[in-house]
Amino acid sequence: MSGWLAIAGLGPGAAELVTPEVTHALAQATDLIGYAPYVARVPERAGLTRHGSDNREELDRAMLALKLAAEDRRVVVVSSGDPGVFAMAAAIFEAVDEGDPSWRNLDIRVLPGISAMFAAAARIGAPLGHDFCAVNLSDNLKPWDLIERRLRLAAQAGFVIALYNPLSKARPWQLGRALALLSEELPETVPVVFADAVSDAKEAIDVTTLRDAVAARADMRTLVLIGSTQTRLIARSSGRPFVYTPRSAGVSS
Ligand code: SAH
Repeated sequence: MSGWLAIAGLGPGAAELVTPEVTHALAQATDLIGYAPYVARVPERAGLTRHGSDNREELDRAMLALKLAAEDRRVVVVSSGDPGVFAMAAAIFEAVDEGDPSWRNLDIRVLPGISAMFAAAARIGAPLGHDFCAVNLSDNLKPWDLIERRLRLAAQAGFVIALYNPLSKARPWQLGRALALLSEELPETVPVVFADAVSDAKEAIDVTTLRDAVAARADMRTLVLIGSTQTRLIARSSGRPFVYTPRSAGVSS
């Protein structure tokens, strides 16, 4: 069996944030599979067949990838950021778990990438310097009341919260509701960061507070970071402040 399947993260956007390991796998591949805008980020070359698809077809995409790898093709499935964070790696393993038993013996590797929360955090300082969590605000695959419960508990527990998929045309109200309930749990001065298209030409980053955060500021390419009560700003005479969360909490010195 010479086929393999690599589930690769392309990072947040910039070419220099793609790892050499991912670049190497792409150079060896016969087939490239993914959501069409991510497939478009990989340069065309002879010998590489491209299978771009719609955003919602994750399980079909996973099954196609496994089928091709079983036919001895060298397949790369691409996600943005890290493939294990709200992306294709889990979809592939769901398909392996439920699909053709022979798929379990395929050569399947997950190649990590820089997730949006790490790229966004690095741009502004160190907001994830203490405990944090990531919440996918999409209620396509889980009920909204579960998301609300997790957000409340995360805020109460003092986590900095990275919100993925904050808003889309099909999900216009979720971020507003999330900000409203977080305002019930946290002081209004808590820092909030809107980070759009980090590392792309359209990058835009705003640092605000929970009181002034406006949901409509976000779109599909925004990562929203909600600080904890420990998260601090360091003002600078020009430009954005640094945002960081100190490493310690609750220890007496
Ligand atoms: N696997 C990806 C996340 C996919 S979910 C990762 O690890 O980053 C898609 C969401 O990721 C978007 O709605 C947005 O919240 C976030 N995102 C992806 N790329 C981004 C970027 N360059 N800048 C800001 N947020 C981004």
